[in-house]
Amino acid sequence: MITYRAPLEDIRFLLHRVFDYEGRVASLPGYEDASGEIVDAVLEEAERFAVNELLPLNASGDAEGCVFENGVVRTPEGFKEAYRAFSEAGWCGLSCDPDYGGQGLPHTLQFLINEMICSTNLSFGMYPGLSHGAYNALALHGSKTQKNHYLPQLVAGTWSGTMCLTEPHCGTDLGLIRTRAEPDGVGPDGETLYKITGTKIFISAGEHDLTDNIVHLVLAKLPDAPPGVRGISMFLVPKILVTDDGSLGERNAAVCGSIEQKMGIKASSTCVMNFDAARGTLVGAPHKGMRYMFTMMNEARLAVGLQGLGIAETAYQSAAAYAKERRQGRALKGAAEPDKAADPIIVHPDVRKNLLTMRALNEGTRALAVWTAINLDVSTRHPDAATRQECDDLISLLTPIIKAFMTDHGFTAANLGVQIFGGHGFIRETGMEQLVRDARITQLYEGAYGIQGLDLVGRKLPQHAGRLLRRFFHPVAAFIEANMAEPGMQDYMLPLAKAFAKLQQASVWIAQEGMRDPNQGAAAASNYLRLFALVILAYLWARMAEVALAVPEDQRDDFHKAKLATARFYMTYLLPEANSLFTTITAGAGPLMDPPAEWF
Ligand SMILES: Cc1cc2nc3c(=O)[nH]c(=O)nc-3n(C[C@H](O)[C@H](O)[C@H](O)COP(=O)(O)OP(=O)(O)OC[C@H]3O[C@@H](n4cnc5c(N)ncnc54)[C@H](O)[C@@H]3O)c2cc1C
Repeated sequence: MITYRAPLEDIRFLLHRVFDYEGRVASLPGYEDASGEIVDAVLEEAERFAVNELLPLNASGDAEGCVFENGVVRTPEGFKEAYRAFSEAGWCGLSCDPDYGGQGLPHTLQFLINEMICSTNLSFGMYPGLSHGAYNALALHGSKTQKNHYLPQLVAGTWSGTMCLTEPHCGTDLGLIRTRAEPDGVGPDGETLYKITGTKIFISAGEHDLTDNIVHLVLAKLPDAPPGVRGISMFLVPKILVTDDGSLGERNAAVCGSIEQKMGIKASSTCVMNFDAARGTLVGAPHKGMRYMFTMMNEARLAVGLQGLGIAETAYQSAAAYAKERRQGRALKGAAEPDKAADPIIVHPDVRKNLLTMRALNEGTRALAVWTAINLDVSTRHPDAATRQECDDLISLLTPIIKAFMTDHGFTAANLGVQIFGGHGFIRETGMEQLVRDARITQLYEGAYGIQGLDLVGRKLPQHAGRLLRRFFHPVAAFIEANMAEPGMQDYMLPLAKAFAKLQQASVWIAQEGMRDPNQGAAAASNYLRLFALVILAYLWARMAEVALAVPEDQRDDFHKAKLATARFYMTYLLPEANSLFTTITAGAGPLMDPPAEWF
């Protein structure tokens, strides 16, 4: 009962009409071959792959799960073949450097394809997703030898990557890491070799049967490490050692101890990894591991945000199709289809509210993702340093918001999808309950909601005396001023202006109160993040409405009419939450922190 087609019309609207992909991205040095036409063609090809190859394996992969036997992990039936087809078609290296065999296409395209992969098979997407994170970390911080030996294989998909941070006693607080790295001689290129010892848990793609080798990026501490997060280094520890000429050698002492039985993404292997004096090399400089991990994590956080949107899109499309065919009760103002025994449930206002909530947040967060991706491309390729910096600032500000808000939305949308299916949504056969189970992890890994809120309030807001904040506030203020009096725009501009004022007031309140007492900022953080997200979406919905209104009324097709209707729903039904969030933020930390711990 799962219904899914890639939202290509919406994607084209965003790329070409709202955000000027051609002018902003295709014109960047190195992207000359990534014209709008090429991008549209690649997106169509990606849709075919996602719908024909990945979607059919989603439910079976969930039912079968991964199996751990004699130290090896077997992925569900069909995964190996799908992965081979995926890597042979070049999808692993889509946005990677052509020097290492990648296609060098824009991040914008990668983001949109990631959404499709997550819509059709989130578990499958974990494998290339982790590899891409490892690719990024090594491309930015690896030595020449590490890059030459590992990047071409990660790009080709013949080897995969992992991110080994978590230990049994430490997840959020990585300063507590116990895994140790001892120097152990010198390699042929003069680099120090290390022996890595420790146990990592919850390692996605830690062991599986899809690739010839697995490249673990492991956080560990050197003997002279300073305490806490300042003492963490990053090591490259391959499952199978790589010889001097880059070919595969001996098996390394990096082995999977077991896999987790878990709530969702069951076809993604989640491993306990034991490193028993495993051989590895340092990535970058000693004690800089957390900084490197963050460069990898920022892109990973954006990617996890897209996981939320991917699931939300499938939930919406499936629920919308069901609501048009499931018949229960009658429309309150008279039967919509009197010749039938009952009307389709889409006649009921509450069902519509749920569908429109999903749709407004899906299209709003997709606009946010495309806007961010375009800024990412500009931040890496634009010839002007000031422009690059401006985009980089905006991405830093948006990253925690995207991660937290979009994954929360993914889970909520999956739940609303079940609601629209009623009891049938609770039954495995429809596929809707799997979406809920799969979506749940996205809210947890890569930093839970509260951690993203702290990042926004504690790091991003004060950074460079509020410079990051101004990268968003200034264009929004200018947009409001330019459009407030435009014919037809008031329905969107007035609510945006009011909510934006609340966000500005909340920002000042947090800056002042947070200086006085850090608990004030921390208590407000997650509500502030949500308020911020709602205002960003209001701004993007107003921009989308502006484009739709530019089409003369007598020429507006259903797509444009639906855009305006959804924008109106967003402004009237969803954005008002900004008021209650503002009230909660300014209530302060007292109601949370006054009750002593023993009362809980
Ligand atoms: C399926 C799956 C896949 C995973 N994949 C990987 C992987 O590939 N690599 C890897 O290294 N790890 C991975 N993880 C681990 C994941 O990143 C951690 O579970 C996550 O970081 C949270 O750590 P924790 O579970 O120890 O929770 P804890 O750190 O114990 O936190 C418990 C709760 O307290 C909250 N909390 C903690 N500190 C604060 C604070 N200062 N302020 C506010 N709230 C706070 C947290 O947000 C959380 O809600 C995976 C986990 C799962 C379940």
